[in-house]
Amino acid sequence: ETLDKGLEKSNRSFFDKIGRAVAGKSKVDDEVLDELEEILISSDVGVETTVKIIKMIEDRVAKDKFMSTSELDQILREEIMKLLAENKSSDSTFEIPESDKPYVIMVVGVNGVGKTTTIGKLAHQFKQQGKKVVLGAADTFRAAAVDQLVIWSERVGVPIVKQGMGADPASVAFDSVQSAKAQNADVVLIDTAGRLHNKVNLMNELSKIKRVMQKVIPEAPHEILLVLDGSTGQNAFEQAKQFTAATEVTSLAITKLDGTAKGGVVIGISDQFKIPVKYIGVGEGMNDLQPFDKYEFVDSFFK
Ligand code: GDP
Repeated sequence: ETLDKGLEKSNRSFFDKIGRAVAGKSKVDDEVLDELEEILISSDVGVETTVKIIKMIEDRVAKDKFMSTSELDQILREEIMKLLAENKSSDSTFEIPESDKPYVIMVVGVNGVGKTTTIGKLAHQFKQQGKKVVLGAADTFRAAAVDQLVIWSERVGVPIVKQGMGADPASVAFDSVQSAKAQNADVVLIDTAGRLHNKVNLMNELSKIKRVMQKVIPEAPHEILLVLDGSTGQNAFEQAKQFTAATEVTSLAITKLDGTAKGGVVIGISDQFKIPVKYIGVGEGMNDLQPFDKYEFVDSFFK
């Protein structure tokens, strides 16, 4: 419902803009396509994906010789759905297997995007599914990050593994995975520091964390979840670029879609980086993390 509220706001304006672009026109022509291009870009869909969508529509216009403006919504909707499907967005959320314990989810992203909150919300969901969860506070760079995660561990009621401020993140990750294994936990969520100012450092730090976790669980991490703030537009694209250059990323969580008037980031980032969007954040509370549902998303985009 919150998603609907937030997205409705955004999507009403998206829808209104398209309405304005085609007002008084019966046919999708170059002028309409130019305006559509601007609308997609201003909705944070990103240049690359916008160009791709426009090209798809041009091709359809060329093939059918004519496209009425009244069909445009439906065709856009189909094309966006196709893009999301190609990247397997919304196919599934994290499935924690019964065997191979613990399932290791490493969570990356820059400070402030909602990384800690997303970890807390995920821990809550897993716990509700009857899973035994452990949190690992490997973002040792900021004291506040550890404090925040401690608060979430208390709120949700799951154990946390931490060390002092400034401790080696890899050492915390190692302890966390080992402790989760000893407790026969189902899943361990590892928070990491998101310092982007030095790409080589970030890369080294993340690969060291991975390496030491693999001493305990050779398959770890099973997932590398990148958290992005959906309300930051181009910044989110830039972060996706930097993180995917520094590490493999297996899935995305896009937060703060309750507050944004531009849900287009979800479409653009998933398409450009070929990574499935698994979760969306729609508020600050424990229950405000939803599995990404492309049908619902596209529906509200065009409402
Ligand atoms: P981190 O630095 O990446 O760990 O970010 P935090 O998890 O501490 O979140 C930063 C701020 O964003 C906090 O005030 C959170 O309550 C807020 N936040 C996180 N996710 C969402 C969301 O989906 N919607 C809204 N409205 N706020 C969020």
